[in-house]
Amino acid sequence: MTALTRRSFLSASTAAIVLTRPDQAHAAPRIALPSDVAQRDAATVTAIRTRSPVVAMTFDDGPHPKLTPILLDMLRARNMRATFYLIGNRVVKWPDIVRRIADEGHEIGNHSWSHPDLSRQSESRVIQEIDRTSDAIFRVTGRPPVTFRPPYGAFSRRQRLMLYEQRNLPTILWSVDPQDWRRPGASVVASRILKGSRPGAIILSHDIQSGTVNAMPRTLDGLAARGLKFGTMSQMMGWPLWQSRRFRRVSAG
Ligand SMILES: [Zn+2]
Repeated sequence: MTALTRRSFLSASTAAIVLTRPDQAHAAPRIALPSDVAQRDAATVTAIRTRSPVVAMTFDDGPHPKLTPILLDMLRARNMRATFYLIGNRVVKWPDIVRRIADEGHEIGNHSWSHPDLSRQSESRVIQEIDRTSDAIFRVTGRPPVTFRPPYGAFSRRQRLMLYEQRNLPTILWSVDPQDWRRPGASVVASRILKGSRPGAIILSHDIQSGTVNAMPRTLDGLAARGLKFGTMSQMMGWPLWQSRRFRRVSAG
């Protein structure tokens, strides 16, 4: 696959998204979509308003060469789907893991190229960080991410609106933050997530932390024991599965 030019990427992310049925190889079991999904602000999402028992597990900062495959094994054993917000410069280092994430039915989101504090960056630098990452993910998986998560959550409202307008990417924040990057230990991470999660929650965590990955068996089983199901971000938004999207290349002519 050749590189996506800036212009063709723009077209792919706006007018030329072609939705088809999921092909069988990548078809993930569908969760029942919440009928009352609602977004207050198209450019910014912190949680989904729903009474349906569904939450989104999100994992930032990967892929990690050792920990991400361990996490993928845990998710596969439970038939659960998550969303991975990947850093572009790690995507190009570990493309096989990125491909595995996509192949196993998880969604991949954009978490910038080099993980800077984007709130302090110019608009052109922000777009460059995001485009470069979308392009890397596109090259590996055949589709660009459809949501963005800013490093540190540092992204102004003006920037969120700009990104939504220019790239059609909503900014996905979170409603549950276990502060796992402070390394409080696996049992604290699990307790915080279990305590904070309710229907519609978007749960933040980091699969580059061994404590977080170690917390996942108890966390995932604990959430499931409460009857909570796991949706990818696209499912939470009421969109087609990321794997089912087809992005037609548009000639730049
Ligand atoms: Zn991050």
